[in-house]
Amino acid sequence: MPSYFDFNATTPLLPCAREAWLSASEQHWYNASSLYREAGFTAQHLDAARERLALLLGGEAERIVFTSGATESNNALFALLAKTLPPGRCVAISAIEHPSVREAARGWLGASRVVEIPVNGQGIVEPEAVKKCLAVSSPALVSVMAANNESGSLQPWREIAKMCREHSVKMHCDAAQWLGKLDASLLGECDYVTGSGHKFGGSKGVGFLLLSDEDERLGIQRGGPQEQGRRAGTENYPGIESMVTALEFHAASAVAVGAAQRVLRDGFIGQLRVAMPELRIIGEGSERLWNTVLMVMPRHENLKWLTRLSRLGFSISTGSACSSGKEGSSVVVQALGASGEELRRVLRISAGWATTAAEWQALGEAMVGVLAELEQGGKGRMVV
Ligand code: PMP
Repeated sequence: MPSYFDFNATTPLLPCAREAWLSASEQHWYNASSLYREAGFTAQHLDAARERLALLLGGEAERIVFTSGATESNNALFALLAKTLPPGRCVAISAIEHPSVREAARGWLGASRVVEIPVNGQGIVEPEAVKKCLAVSSPALVSVMAANNESGSLQPWREIAKMCREHSVKMHCDAAQWLGKLDASLLGECDYVTGSGHKFGGSKGVGFLLLSDEDERLGIQRGGPQEQGRRAGTENYPGIESMVTALEFHAASAVAVGAAQRVLRDGFIGQLRVAMPELRIIGEGSERLWNTVLMVMPRHENLKWLTRLSRLGFSISTGSACSSGKEGSSVVVQALGASGEELRRVLRISAGWATTAAEWQALGEAMVGVLAELEQGGKGRMVV
């Protein structure tokens, strides 16, 4: 039976999110901007979904703009800053941001207006490093993700948001990997928050950006006055409904699921360590998402591992999905100063909310088997 261990790349649709999508598509498929009664009901449901999301995030509904996903949200923010940033001011982003933050910041503002905040040996952005950056570079905005997509390392985003507030600096938090896995109810304390529905069982092609001020004009798409004039284009109400329903589902069970999954994940690491005591887990000494393991294998290139495991029915990744298949793909391992050779040994395992003990165990056994196979690679076996 195929086993999926790439939940940080994307997730299957949750049954409740599918139901929500279907029901919204069948009953409220009208254009929320139209003026007849039925369209008014769609608009009301859309507003209700915004209120429900605001409640989950601990922010105000007026600050939420629905988008097509985290990439659009991140681009929209930096496009806005490209229009509003005073001359001479820069933004600061952490060294481990997703390409949709890093490339968007550099692309919209120019590389010379983007400074990087380094991480410590665990892949964590220390508040001290942010403090130093505020003093030296005086950025107008600091962008630090909530949880890293590769290592799962939890970043001290709340502390950083507080520090930024004290310095009158805006703070952006890309929470694409945090949402649905950990408590989201304080994220509204950040000025800007990014999320993407398909990362937690909602449908694809839908996300949001929480703005700092309800009056901010995103204007990345020109056209109609939807989203209070902040994003043109007919709202994807069924997608939005599925995303919010999925997040509500996880909010009710996240703590218990996380505790149980963490035990399974750590058991899997223990199982691997018996066969590979030299295995290096990135960020092992710090808090990580309960579903994620980023590791540097002691031997053999990651693509050899990946293809063999794929043949055995296990789907895993070499880093982030956006760079999977490229050599040296891990932004985090790179930020930790690894060599090119080490980068080619990186694997990422990311489980789901309902991954079973048997699946974790089977993956561990398969990896130990692949190791044995690879060790014999020179003896006439096929090498990828
Ligand atoms: N930010 C983070 C932290 C992510 O993990 C991802 C998805 N890999 C994104 C942004 C982009 O999300 P999407 O592809 O849904 O736009």
